[in-house]
Amino acid sequence: MLMKKLICFFNLCLLLVSCGQKSQVSLVSLVNPLMGTESTFEFSHGNTYPAVAVPWGMNFWSPQTGKNGSGWMYTYKDSLIRGFRQTHQPSPWINDYGTFSIMPVWGELTMDNQKRGMRFSHENEKAAPDCYQVKFDNGVSTALSATSRGAVFEITYPSEEGQYIVVDAYQHGGSVVWNKEENCIYGITHYNNGGVPENFANYFIIEFDKPVVESGTDENSCAYVKFQLEAGEKMTVRTASSFISHDQARLNFNREVAGRSLAEVSAEAKKIWNDQLGRIQVEGGTHEQQKTFYSCLYRTLLFPREFYEFDSDNKPVYYSPYDGQLHGGYMYTDNGFWDTFRAVHPLFTLAYPEVSGRIMQSLVNAYDESGFMPEWASPGHRGCMIGNNSISLLTDAWMKGIRTFDKDKALEAMLHQTQARGEIASVGRDGYEEYDRLGYVPYPEVPEATAKTLEYAYADWCLARFAEATGNQEIAKAYYKKAQNYRNLFYPEKGFMWARDANGKWRDNFDATEWGGPFTEGCSWHWTWSVFHDPEGLSTLLGGHEQMAERLDSMFTAPNTFNYGTYGFVIHEIAEMVALNMGQYAHGNQPVQHAIYLYNYVGQPWKAQYHTRNVLNKLYNSGPQGYCGDEDNGQTSAWYVFTALGFYPVCPGASEYVLGSPLFNKATLSLPGGKQFVIHAENASEDNCYIRSATLNGKNFSHNFLKHEELMQGGELKLIMDCVPDKERGVKPEDAPYSYNK
Ligand code: CA
Repeated sequence: MLMKKLICFFNLCLLLVSCGQKSQVSLVSLVNPLMGTESTFEFSHGNTYPAVAVPWGMNFWSPQTGKNGSGWMYTYKDSLIRGFRQTHQPSPWINDYGTFSIMPVWGELTMDNQKRGMRFSHENEKAAPDCYQVKFDNGVSTALSATSRGAVFEITYPSEEGQYIVVDAYQHGGSVVWNKEENCIYGITHYNNGGVPENFANYFIIEFDKPVVESGTDENSCAYVKFQLEAGEKMTVRTASSFISHDQARLNFNREVAGRSLAEVSAEAKKIWNDQLGRIQVEGGTHEQQKTFYSCLYRTLLFPREFYEFDSDNKPVYYSPYDGQLHGGYMYTDNGFWDTFRAVHPLFTLAYPEVSGRIMQSLVNAYDESGFMPEWASPGHRGCMIGNNSISLLTDAWMKGIRTFDKDKALEAMLHQTQARGEIASVGRDGYEEYDRLGYVPYPEVPEATAKTLEYAYADWCLARFAEATGNQEIAKAYYKKAQNYRNLFYPEKGFMWARDANGKWRDNFDATEWGGPFTEGCSWHWTWSVFHDPEGLSTLLGGHEQMAERLDSMFTAPNTFNYGTYGFVIHEIAEMVALNMGQYAHGNQPVQHAIYLYNYVGQPWKAQYHTRNVLNKLYNSGPQGYCGDEDNGQTSAWYVFTALGFYPVCPGASEYVLGSPLFNKATLSLPGGKQFVIHAENASEDNCYIRSATLNGKNFSHNFLKHEELMQGGELKLIMDCVPDKERGVKPEDAPYSYNK
């Protein structure tokens, strides 16, 4: 009887779960922050670290296994932790700034980061977005949680002897000072790797709820404090910081962490994550697919970070990394738009428009303060990558109804971005004079010239579209014309994008597998597709729809050979492409990430359905080797999020999402105004990746794209999935997504 009752109870539980009691499901519990952490300089499975943070938080916290200064802050195969680090690092290639670490040391006092590491194993580690916990092999335990500008730790030592905390401000003239009256540390770190004004600093406060019995410093910006606790007695450590001043750090401390326990802060962080992750609810698929989905969504919601704080009147203020001054308003940083314009920011404009609105303001603010909008910021302008994708961000936001910024100032900033160059090549438009004179950027006169030409042409289309939408028709006309410049580097004899010098002569020794040179982190196999705004025009160059589809086919069947070209060695992106074994398809890097969707423009949408699903299944998992290349501030994750929903923003600014093949049976997008858009994929399964039929709000739907306004009105896309392709659906010209020349 008891057994029967138990079985009934068990069945009831199953029923509740299968009925999708959404409020009871903690989405944050599906996130694995260790996804992508098993990476090295030579080969990236994501190059991520397990960030404890709130979405877009000003500070992240991570266990540090690498030595101070190494971009590989946490790697899954390491066995020592050297500190728990407040970090702002967007990528190992960009490295960190304003960082410091807190490390419990037990037994003999060791301050040097090369020697103080303590052994741990993954069995005794628990990583979640809201809390990281580890019990070291020596019995010391540490748990921590974070707010945007603060953090709370709980630390215990296994015995009474030698209980220390070492605070490391990473040299560069930083200081750590123990204040006896306040039982607290005041620290300053100047550590940085990028272009910041001379007065740049991160001011931090660390408070202990147990008395310090001894303290000291070394000559490397490190300090220690000593405690006398019972064995296993819990000590709470609270910290907060500011890029403005110690007074502001105190304000941040009092608002976010003063008097609060680890459990309280962690519960709040968990709630924030569940609310943000919950804007997209998926049902169906496997548990592993759900874990991968929410781990990717977590990564998408980390960057760019809030670089602003709230003053004593609760108004947003920020230290500008561009002019070193204090300003009112919003600033965001730590983003390479070359990566994130593609899918991260379009996901924000769709599902997190209030955040997008603040980010757009910060672009215009950066223009006011430095004369340019950022393209790669961390925290100020960084010399990295190419393009004018800030224009894409503003245009995509404007076209989707985000009106938080001054349109005239934005247009002025956009025009300037295309007609000037900063001190470093990635700021403004490198080669703009040649581009305007010749209609392309010449190579070898300008490095990465073909990649630049293609991205400038897309940026020009974005600018034209923005100008048109804001009533500046003359500008629109001129820039729509420039947006066709991609044609000037299409080498008809070879049928690929290639390079020309300033005299118009094609570069010798054509090799579609040659990386670098006129291209950026890729070869012509990848860059030929970078015509986001005009796939129809590109197909004409390639000989027509059939020929373009064949070229897409051959990208997957060509041998995965390479010529490392001007790089002179096998860069990790090349190694990753070879390892995928999918021909010349290099999903581990950005230039090609939209390419599969181009089948929708040439009447063969079923191939987009097949290949996108294949990539979802083969190239991602929720584990430490979960990505097939750099994650890159949410971009490779946002590809998964969109693609698992069944669509992708191929051309930000066009306000369309191009169809693929939904991974889950049901996905619900919660939109502003309480609306919902639901994607049903009936019969979706491993084999059933093809769309047999589709209805939008009950009406037959043959298009290969959804319009932004169709989503925002709320409604229902219903797809019936099948294991065989329907070669009749989505093949008419009107079914193809936006192209300028459609
Ligand atoms: Ca990349």
